[in-house]
Amino acid sequence: MQRRPLLPTLSALALAACFGSALAQQPVLNIYSARHYQTDEALYDDFSKATGIKINRIDGDDNGIYSRLKSEGAASPADVVLMVDAARLWRGEIEGLFQPVKSAVLQARIPATLRSKDDGQGSQWFGFSTRARVVVYDKTRVQRADVDTYEKLAAPVNKGRLCTRSGSHPYNLSLFGAMTEHLGPQGTETWLKGLVDNMARAPKGGDTDQIKGVASGECAVAITNSYYLARMMRSGKPEDRAVVEKVAVVFPNQADHGTHVNIAGGAVARHAKNRDAAVKFLEYLASDSAQNYFANGNNEWPAVAGLRSQNPALLALGDFKTETVPISVIGMNQVKVQQMLDRVGFK
Ligand code: FE
Repeated sequence: MQRRPLLPTLSALALAACFGSALAQQPVLNIYSARHYQTDEALYDDFSKATGIKINRIDGDDNGIYSRLKSEGAASPADVVLMVDAARLWRGEIEGLFQPVKSAVLQARIPATLRSKDDGQGSQWFGFSTRARVVVYDKTRVQRADVDTYEKLAAPVNKGRLCTRSGSHPYNLSLFGAMTEHLGPQGTETWLKGLVDNMARAPKGGDTDQIKGVASGECAVAITNSYYLARMMRSGKPEDRAVVEKVAVVFPNQADHGTHVNIAGGAVARHAKNRDAAVKFLEYLASDSAQNYFANGNNEWPAVAGLRSQNPALLALGDFKTETVPISVIGMNQVKVQQMLDRVGFK
């Protein structure tokens, strides 16, 4: 994955100022993006070809993008913000970094559970792809029936087996925020305590490290976002193939509330100078062709209902039941969740 650093763009902006009159002929859309995938290039090219609007993309991580937006304030050149995870989108929403978007296309195409509340005045965002938080386990040591719900990960049978990244990571904050809707705050705190009691090791690393931990035998059960597993399933590297061979995957809670899903999404920046073009770009992301590019770039599922992914790893994983907790509610619960994590000692 290639990252373009944040700083060199400042000189690009200075250059733009010098040639302002020439550039004024061609509209430019400034996108601050926390997504860094090769296939996104085709996505941007297609948009420029169809609309004549040039795209200037500035890559960063979520913290870098948000602090840049805040320090730039009303002078920010950002028109569109692309982010991953509901917890982060929610943060941008409450910090007032986005603006309301009136779009019949987005209302019709993006399911209501995958976008922020439409109150016509707040700071709004839309999900454009989905990922599931799944359970991976060691086929030789673990019974599938012992890990087929998130709740069971806290059961005594899984003592000393569980590996996960930090509880405070947005992916876990979002999962735990969803569980708060299913189990209530008290039930969720008890469940989190159970997870801590079942750890094979202190939380560390990213999701891929947890999958590798299961393959190496250090862990027997792990929690991961689906695309990390799909990426390994599609990898040509023998060491990745060996890992995939050793593990099995389960979409939790198929018999009741469904598996937790999260999103990658976008918003119109609060101080966008090219507001109409920004909305046009978000509407373009909801089109059939862009949906496939956007989702496939990171082995995710399209957000638009009725579209089927052609991604071979996702086809192999098959269909599953997703939970219906609104992503916006999940974001909202994260402060409460962090307090529970502190109380139960979940690092
Ligand atoms: Fe990720």
